[in-house]
Amino acid sequence: MSEATVAIIGAGPIGLELAAALKQAGVDYLHFEGGQIGQTVSRYPKMTRFFSSASRIALCGVPLVTADQSKASREEYLAYLRGIVTQFDLEILTYHRVTEIEKSDEGFTLQTDHQGEVQRHRVRNIVLATGDMSFPRLLHIPGEDMGHVSHDFDEPHRYFRKRLLIVGGKNSAIEAAVRCHHAGAEVSLSYRQAALDPQRIKYWLLPEVEALIKAKKIKYYPSTLPAQITATEVTLRPTGEGQGPAVKVDADFVLLLTGYVMDTTLFKMLGVALEGENTSPVFDPRTMRTNVPGVYVAGTSAAGTQVSFKLFIENCHIHVPRIVAALTGQAPPDEMPDQAPPHQIPES
Ligand SMILES: Cc1cc2nc3c(=O)[nH]c(=O)nc-3n(C[C@H](O)[C@H](O)[C@H](O)COP(=O)(O)OP(=O)(O)OC[C@H]3O[C@@H](n4cnc5c(N)ncnc54)[C@H](O)[C@@H]3O)c2cc1C
Repeated sequence: MSEATVAIIGAGPIGLELAAALKQAGVDYLHFEGGQIGQTVSRYPKMTRFFSSASRIALCGVPLVTADQSKASREEYLAYLRGIVTQFDLEILTYHRVTEIEKSDEGFTLQTDHQGEVQRHRVRNIVLATGDMSFPRLLHIPGEDMGHVSHDFDEPHRYFRKRLLIVGGKNSAIEAAVRCHHAGAEVSLSYRQAALDPQRIKYWLLPEVEALIKAKKIKYYPSTLPAQITATEVTLRPTGEGQGPAVKVDADFVLLLTGYVMDTTLFKMLGVALEGENTSPVFDPRTMRTNVPGVYVAGTSAAGTQVSFKLFIENCHIHVPRIVAALTGQAPPDEMPDQAPPHQIPES
């Protein structure tokens, strides 16, 4: 059984930034990741660009430089994460999913699953850096589990010259609609709200999708929700009262891009208090310590399932010095501006 002072669970951007900081502070830790490093980012559609500026998602003071000075793509950021791990020589147990945690007087015993092999590890503290995008938000409608229906958009090519219904009205859905239209798909868009929300869509995509809808190049079904999916069509029902009858939309493929929910399993196993419909963990914002002694939260999992986004990479960097200070018995760091860590150039 391996032993350490701290277990970091999750090697997304914030888990990696914390690992580098703990290493620099001389704190021994074990780092577990259920998939590959940056697993959440690797699930973005191919060639997606971040909406955050490169300087704001840079980690550990290492500049994130893009070839054309624009925002980073999924591929550039994954390469950058690999560079961070290499530069700081971080040891990460990838493809080690933490499945069980037991509390004892000495701390915690973690059980991991590594390709079917169960391993046990003993630690005194745990940092849950597990993110907030573990599972797709399901609609629980007939047909949702059919083979031509997906909750993840990978890339547009498979929809070339096919009738594609996309459900959702935020960034992911709008980006998929525009990209698939340009890749030759016949795109329809169903959104439960009456109007698209400019706050939830990349500013460079909004005018384009609005123009495509106006020109009827994308068929838009506002104020609708899918009620049933069959092999060839989707029944959309109106969301408001007095909105008219249900409509049937022909579809060869259906993308349900309706967001994600956080996996609260480890939080509940540990007895971390979760609040409200977002199941947000309760913690002390000066130290990131939860109600369970020795258990901390870092990154976007600190917000729970985000109905309207509150935490991104850029306002989670501050979690790192707070946790390092708490684990090394230092006073919490002076409040830093949440939007940009001090080693980065603030946005002009
Ligand atoms: C298309 C798209 C575009 C986005 N663009 C931006 C953007 O521009 N800017 C921005 O800030 N955010 C963006 N986001 C959100 C962004 O992905 C998150 O803000 C970011 O990944 C959060 O980092 P994190 O380290 O907190 O968590 P994550 O990156 O989610 O990392 C959590 C890690 O924990 C691992 N894990 C979970 N449970 C376990 C377990 N039991 N055992 C072991 N490992 C476990 C997961 O595999 C994962 O690798 C975007 C999201 C999407 C889908």
